[in-house]
Amino acid sequence: MKPFARALLIVASGLMAAGCDKEENPVKSQVTYQADLAVPFAGYSDSVRVCAWKDDKRAAYSVAFDDATRSSHYLVSAPELEARGMRGTFNLNTKGITDWEPWQKLFDKGHELASHSWSHLRMGDLDEIALHREFSLAKSDLLNHIKGLKEVPSFTFPMGSSSALARAVALQYHHSARAGSGVNAAVLTQEELSRVKGVGVYPPYDMSRFEAPVNEALERGGWVLIYFHTVSAAEESGDTTIPLSLYRVHLDYVKIRADQFWLATQGEAATYLYAREATEPQLTTREERILQITMAAPNLRGEEAGSLSVVVRKPEEWRDHAIVVELDGAILTTIAASPSEQFVCDLPVNKTVWLWARK
Ligand SMILES: [Zn+2]
Repeated sequence: MKPFARALLIVASGLMAAGCDKEENPVKSQVTYQADLAVPFAGYSDSVRVCAWKDDKRAAYSVAFDDATRSSHYLVSAPELEARGMRGTFNLNTKGITDWEPWQKLFDKGHELASHSWSHLRMGDLDEIALHREFSLAKSDLLNHIKGLKEVPSFTFPMGSSSALARAVALQYHHSARAGSGVNAAVLTQEELSRVKGVGVYPPYDMSRFEAPVNEALERGGWVLIYFHTVSAAEESGDTTIPLSLYRVHLDYVKIRADQFWLATQGEAATYLYAREATEPQLTTREERILQITMAAPNLRGEEAGSLSVVVRKPEEWRDHAIVVELDGAILTTIAASPSEQFVCDLPVNKTVWLWARK
């Protein structure tokens, strides 16, 4: 297996836990499948659809912050995200970091810590030996200093400088690397994952300029990644410094669209995208009571491949019944009874689950 694919699988397990809607009755839901408890159905012939983005959201949105030298990342930017239930990707050039504690706190709050190279060089100008040095030193710095960090899925090229060689080497260390400018499509090749597009927030800070790519992602069902540098609580403005009030305008614009966006870190979005393209769901029925679904991804490794959201159409007879999702004789989750024709659910990749409706 290529280093990229292997590394991807290791992180995927940490990023995504399988599950669906909240349990509406945890005591009752402990009962696993028995034929006499399950609602029978007849004539079911539908297939299952993997969602483009988690929870069947129309598009994905990520927000990132560049450079380890900017204390506003943890003093100002991250608290504003947390107040809105959002998480960011913080791109750290690690060479100059002496105090890891603020970054550890960001990681502990669920933000992503990503590599921005070791010494913030123009990677497009480096030879292979120098590239490996930049990638490996930064990655090992992060892994050695951040407790609980198992992988570093994301990278951002300093100053956007990359080359074909630099992008190929990036994928030996990371699952995705940010380089170009613009909005990403829903489907990216591995090569495209080495140059994920982002939209930099630079002057003039007419915030509608940064709402346009957000809307474009919604229209295309794609993935938009907006990145900032310093956010100023003192309302200062500069080439890489945006006043806090305008940063808030942007976050609020995204937040009120959270029903349409999957708010994901760069690592989560790239991992989902990769797993989605590698997975072919297989649905069969059993005993006229069970929908058996296997999320087959032969090129991804076993239990480390994370989970994907799927849309399943209910058999007619299942309407208004709670639906149990069961893995190896254990309840993964229960979906509340409703009259809807279909439901969305996270299923683990490379596992076989049973879905059945409780009488
Ligand atoms: Zn930078």
